[in-house]
Amino acid sequence: MRPNLVTKELNLTLPPLNIDISSGQAEALPAVGTLYIVATPIGNLSDLSPRGRAILAEVDLIAAEDTRHSSGLLQHFGIHAQMVALHEHNETQQSVQLISQLQAGKRIALISDAGTPAISDPGSRLVALAHTHHVPVVTIPGPSALTAALSISGLSALPVHFHGFMPPKAKARRQTLEPLVHSHGTLVFYEAPHRIEEMVEDLVAIFPASRALIICRELTKRFESVHRCTLAGVKTWFAGDPDRLRGEFVLVLEGAAENERTDPLIEGRRVLEILLASSLSISEAARAAAKITGANRSDLYHWALQKHGPTDDSENAS
Ligand code: SAM
Repeated sequence: MRPNLVTKELNLTLPPLNIDISSGQAEALPAVGTLYIVATPIGNLSDLSPRGRAILAEVDLIAAEDTRHSSGLLQHFGIHAQMVALHEHNETQQSVQLISQLQAGKRIALISDAGTPAISDPGSRLVALAHTHHVPVVTIPGPSALTAALSISGLSALPVHFHGFMPPKAKARRQTLEPLVHSHGTLVFYEAPHRIEEMVEDLVAIFPASRALIICRELTKRFESVHRCTLAGVKTWFAGDPDRLRGEFVLVLEGAAENERTDPLIEGRRVLEILLASSLSISEAARAAAKITGANRSDLYHWALQKHGPTDDSENAS
């Protein structure tokens, strides 16, 4: 495993806190009654932006996903700020409290454990409430595992389908993944080490073996690794070293090629129309078209019924 030399050797000289940036919302110093959404490092502490650091040092209050976790970051930068917890279990109530403090003129920053808040992290409910109450919301952009992985994947980011974490239960995960087979956008998933094997098994079972997969692990950290393979080779690669299953993952999967893009429902409707032109009833044609194309029989049946009206046998057939 190649250690991340940047992390090991960087002796960072920190810039002064009061950075003068032109005007308006680009000011480093926080404005009264404003909510700052501050991105924090996804591993390498040097990735906190100077502006992010300045805002965190100057706000009246920091709302953090896990105050104990974030106190390490703040200590590292010599920031002594008051903190409150805002996590998935208290976001609704905590957001109401924070909005009244913002309305009273407090300057508040929101941070998550790592990366950009509200991206597979708490924060969107607070931001939505701030918008509703006309509280200014300002982004302090920076690291996110999503953009970091996508930018080094070599796959097109136009379009991209970001899915964050897949459902933990096998059936729900497969049901979520299956419709994505026909998507021509690059697919991005977050995954935790205890579920990476199951997730990879499902990707291999559902998607064509030729699809490129970029496995981004522990980005910006000491044991950072980026591996590019196809689904045909991914299980062999993981089997080659148990350490490859450790850490935090972003999986970037190539989208469908032109010839894989047919939506089964669209294809099912096309075949259904051909069969209906023969002597088949709606229910017979829907059953046959579903078998041929993999589209849902009931969807096809109801679509044909709406379009062509009931045939003799269709009334009891759904
Ligand atoms: N808000 C964060 C962001 O902007 O990236 C994501 C938070 S989400 C709860 C945590 C997941 O992001 C991890 O399970 C992993 O999938 C991904 N992740 C976070 N840091 C990572 C890193 N350094 N390398 C690879 N993936 C990472």
